[in-house]
Amino acid sequence: MSKGKIHPFFSDEKILDIIRDYSNDTIYFKDHQSRFIWNNRSHAAQFGISDPREMAGKTDADYYPKDFATRARKEEMEIMETRIPLISNIERLEKPDGSVVWYSASKYPIIDEKDNVIGTWGISRNITALKIVEEELSRTNEKLKRLSQVDDLTGLFNRRYFYEMIEKTASQYDRRNRRKKDDPDDTFSLISLDIDFFKKINDDHGHNKGDDVLRLVAGILTSQCRKSDMVFRIGGDEFMMLLPDTPLKGAKVQAERVRTALSGAPIVLDERSAPVRLTASMGISCYRDCSDVADLIHKADERLYTSKNLGRDRAT
Ligand code: GH3
Ligand code: MG
Repeated sequence: MSKGKIHPFFSDEKILDIIRDYSNDTIYFKDHQSRFIWNNRSHAAQFGISDPREMAGKTDADYYPKDFATRARKEEMEIMETRIPLISNIERLEKPDGSVVWYSASKYPIIDEKDNVIGTWGISRNITALKIVEEELSRTNEKLKRLSQVDDLTGLFNRRYFYEMIEKTASQYDRRNRRKKDDPDDTFSLISLDIDFFKKINDDHGHNKGDDVLRLVAGILTSQCRKSDMVFRIGGDEFMMLLPDTPLKGAKVQAERVRTALSGAPIVLDERSAPVRLTASMGISCYRDCSDVADLIHKADERLYTSKNLGRDRAT
């Protein structure tokens, strides 16, 4: 557009007036000492001031909490020294009433005709609404992530998470063992467990009672584990226990503890029938004796079926 065609209303002064009076973003200019020279209405409105000119000569310290003002001054001194602007910096401001406001702030050096840095200017946008949505989204993501790791019926970790965790655990030990070689105890173990004759519980007492038993078993397995152990329901009546920092010997002790706990307390499923004695078969494998994760899982499953074939209610 040629110069002659600009509407006569748009002088530099008018444009500046519009920005001062109507911009929702806060804008300010400061001198070398970070004293306000010019700021717009929405900047002043944050402090309940209607005429921004009242703020000339004042500093952030007159309006903001001390730590916010100190940080802003430090940033401005650095911008003036380096001449490098600060772009879209996320700022958190806690107001005296405890509410929190978030800004996306950009600050620039002001350089005069003689190439001297004489101050800074900045523009900030209130992004609190955006931040709240972002925080909600991140909470929802966390919740979804937890749900994707958990088995609905028992509340244990699920099959998907089992594969994720066993790979992760194996790579941790791989890395560690490359550094400190040949510590036979520095390994982890796996127990694969399947309830014996579970179908009969469903057949005799109904699927709902079967579900109750799965939840009961989940509780027993969890109660027999250390904090660092992880219990998963892989599907049906099949469970896995991942035991970090546990060589084969320790895993055998653990399996025996689980076996005793399961078979030790017969459960009453309904008043009309005799209490049910619950047992399970287990297969134990240790990462140290396996070529990889697939081999570790395969060996545990294979030994579980050996336990079934040897008469159940045992660990191999
Ligand atoms: P075995 O000693 O050989 O393990 O005999 P089993 O009867 O336990 O046989 P198996 O482990 O093969 O059968 C598991 C049964 O679990 C089969 C299925 O009907 C039942 N089942 C699978 N998922 C669920 C579930 O979510 N709830 C209930 N109540 N039963 C389930
Ligand atoms: Mg079974």
